[in-house]
Amino acid sequence: MATIIDGKELSKKLKEQMKDRVAQMRQQGIVPKLVVVLVGNNSASEVYVRNKHKACGEVGIESEVIKMPEETTQQELLDVVKGLNEDRTVDGILVQLPLPGQINEKVVLRSILPEKDVDGFHPVNVGLLSIGDDCYAPATPSGIIAMFKEYGIEIAGKHCVIIGRSNIVGKPMAALLLRHNATVTVCHSKTQNLGELTRQADIVIVATGHRHTLTADMVKEGAVVIDVGMNRNELGKLCGDVDPAAAAVAGYLTPVPGGVGPMTITMLMKNTLRAAEKAAR
Ligand code: NDP
Repeated sequence: MATIIDGKELSKKLKEQMKDRVAQMRQQGIVPKLVVVLVGNNSASEVYVRNKHKACGEVGIESEVIKMPEETTQQELLDVVKGLNEDRTVDGILVQLPLPGQINEKVVLRSILPEKDVDGFHPVNVGLLSIGDDCYAPATPSGIIAMFKEYGIEIAGKHCVIIGRSNIVGKPMAALLLRHNATVTVCHSKTQNLGELTRQADIVIVATGHRHTLTADMVKEGAVVIDVGMNRNELGKLCGDVDPAAAAVAGYLTPVPGGVGPMTITMLMKNTLRAAEKAAR
């Protein structure tokens, strides 16, 4: 039976460490600050933003949420981002996605100064990540690497199969794993014989947004299985992309909820602290 990787507990531990770091920074007159911009009325986004604000409070990061109406124009949002770029008291800027249809996400993400882009979505940070340079890496894959470290899970030389190639999970995950000397296979909706590939994997990371993308028969005995998915079942209960029956075969498994999710927010805090430390130098 798989060891359950407790993302909630690890996230608590890391936040405690960050709290001490923030206290020291504050003594030196450095007050880390994150600003989250929320446009429109997406209820899921509102929950994410609330959780980010709460996590900032827990570690002592100052945080501000700027709420803009659904009908906000692209220019109005760009003006807000410009103001935040110029504001020396702001270390991290995050524009919550998705944005309403009249706003081009790419244009907005590119308008954030790379040094304040704590989400790691700006092409400069994406490029730096892919060439293995110092950068802000996206929070979800960073959180997964932190879980491997905590549980002593070896990455170097392992075959990692990632299911999903999004810019926020799959692709940066592949870049981070390569950086840690894994052998990486990236799968997507056009991949043929998915099970054949996953059965060869020492580590499988699933981020498709579809329940039961990975079933027990697709897992090699003892493999590490990371479930990024956040879906709702028929009863409205939160569940991942992995069939829970995979726990009988896997060596390690992340639960949903309580696995990758809490780590994502924690890594955002970590990036914000780094931004504040860099800005202070
Ligand atoms: P996207 O929809 O952007 O990407 C999904 C990816 O999965 C695509 O690359 C798609 O392929 C691939 N895919 C879809 N169905 C299959 C399939 N049956 N077989 C193989 N590949 C498939 O999703 P995200 O990456 O943004 O998110 C994925 C999931 O992770 C969602 O449930 C999301 O809510 C969750 N999530 C959780 C986070 C957390 O903190 N826990 C953070 C971010 C996301 P193709 O490219 O060909 O379309």
